[in-house]
Amino acid sequence: MSSPRRTRYNFELEFPERTGLPPRLIVILEAEEARPKPVPPKLRARLTKYGLTFEQYQEMLDKQKGLCAICRTASACAIDHCHQTDVVRGLLCTSCNSMLGHAKDDIKRLRAAIRYLARSKDA
Ligand SMILES: [Zn+2]
Repeated sequence: MSSPRRTRYNFELEFPERTGLPPRLIVILEAEEARPKPVPPKLRARLTKYGLTFEQYQEMLDKQKGLCAICRTASACAIDHCHQTDVVRGLLCTSCNSMLGHAKDDIKRLRAAIRYLARSKDA
């Protein structure tokens, strides 16, 4: 059975030659990496606004593989929600989120825009 002091002693003897870092610094770095990272204040504010926990947000981001739920090419950095119910629909890139906002979430308008673009492409 080893005492904490003996463990530390072994650690100090084992690692310095691998990294070249002083033993005490190695201990500090490992403790820092193990500590959970704080949620950035801006993200925390957005999560609070939409009633999401960081874990729920992270789960959504993981399901979408970090990509926008519409274009699936750009990073999902906006929390999209229904403006009538405030229900979060998914995570979007800024372009797709703006597109929905400019179209006022109007499905008829968006379908009309698709038809318009398709006609223009065929011409
Ligand atoms: Zn997008």
